[in-house]
Amino acid sequence: MYIQNPEYKKIAFSMIAQISQIQIQTNEKFNVCLKSISNAIINPLKISYIKKDKIESLQKHANIKIHSTPTEEQRNKYFNACTLRKFANHYFTTEGITSEQLEQFNNIVIEATAAANLLLPKTLHVLDAEHIPQIYNHKYNNDNNKEPFTIGKIEGLFIGEKSDINASCMQGKPKSYFEIYTDLNEDTHAIKMAILTQGNEIVARALVWIDKPTADIDRRKKQRPKDFYIDRIYSKTQEHRADTQTQLYTDLIKYFNIDTNIDNKIHFPPCYNRYDIANKIEAEQNTTKQIFFSNSCPFDIELESDNYNYYPYADTFQNFNTYNQTLSSDQNSGSEMLILENTNGNAETSTIECEQCNFEMDEDNSIYIEDDEVSVCEDCATYCEDRDNYILTDNAIYNSHSGQHHHRDDLDI
Ligand SMILES: [Zn+2]
Repeated sequence: MYIQNPEYKKIAFSMIAQISQIQIQTNEKFNVCLKSISNAIINPLKISYIKKDKIESLQKHANIKIHSTPTEEQRNKYFNACTLRKFANHYFTTEGITSEQLEQFNNIVIEATAAANLLLPKTLHVLDAEHIPQIYNHKYNNDNNKEPFTIGKIEGLFIGEKSDINASCMQGKPKSYFEIYTDLNEDTHAIKMAILTQGNEIVARALVWIDKPTADIDRRKKQRPKDFYIDRIYSKTQEHRADTQTQLYTDLIKYFNIDTNIDNKIHFPPCYNRYDIANKIEAEQNTTKQIFFSNSCPFDIELESDNYNYYPYADTFQNFNTYNQTLSSDQNSGSEMLILENTNGNAETSTIECEQCNFEMDEDNSIYIEDDEVSVCEDCATYCEDRDNYILTDNAIYNSHSGQHHHRDDLDI
């Protein structure tokens, strides 16, 4: 059902007023009836308008009277619809204006269009893993991947210039960085990309990790909260950030039919952004029941390979065990571990080399020698009682009488 949106009308009026203020003249021929302008029926971003001479001729020749609030049928039949930019171009005469005026004119129209965009509802889409690289790859200012793209029936997707999603360290990176997401063991796990769109703009995104194969997710049946992990929710603006994140989170619960009522308690699926949105989500419940809501993921994820050419930076599953091909949120160290915390496509090994003997060791086991400014293994470091600190074993001299090690520089020899 079509509803005239008074906010949209305000935006259009404000755009016209602002352009008039910078001394740009109106186009006399475009004698539009301002009272009846509104958001269009076919596209809520477009403006619906009619010219005054058309109103007169309809009255005169067809005895049709157009009021300031026309019927939906009249709007459909007799009104025109166009973008705010086209409307501004018709309404004003931009010929002969200064370049400064033109720049201001353009900015006013851009702001008005963005404001109209914010009036649109935000819609959830849950995308399969194969689309994840495309979502990350897109970036408004990267020449090779800034074009809007289409996924299935969702056409013309883009991330706006003034979107904080662009500030995510992975946005705009090559598709090859995201190979692990398309290579999960599908017999045990699933991953989805959840997005909220407003118009065609992606205004929020989050990875959704699922502890069961896609084939077993029957959304007609209630799903268990602990089978889901909703990763960090990136969103477009600082304003209303928690609202947008909350919407994505609660829409996902509905989409997957997650049963939050268990044993007379409320269990939410864990979410990376738990601390940002917990207040809002718990307030919506309006309940005296105990609420369980965690930010830590209770399960690991199996991949199909132990080796990839590139790796993404991961917010949650940062630890890749190459021995059992498993991604985990738990910190582990060892020569089989790779840490996904780089933004350049490489993974970090969790082992380091002793700067003295080149032995490979877990970073946790290394000892820093302050005097020499080196990290060394346990064999290359010796505790010195005199200095109350570790020294290089090479510099340590054992005194069998006292049973202590001394630094060679401290001895008169
Ligand atoms: Zn060593």
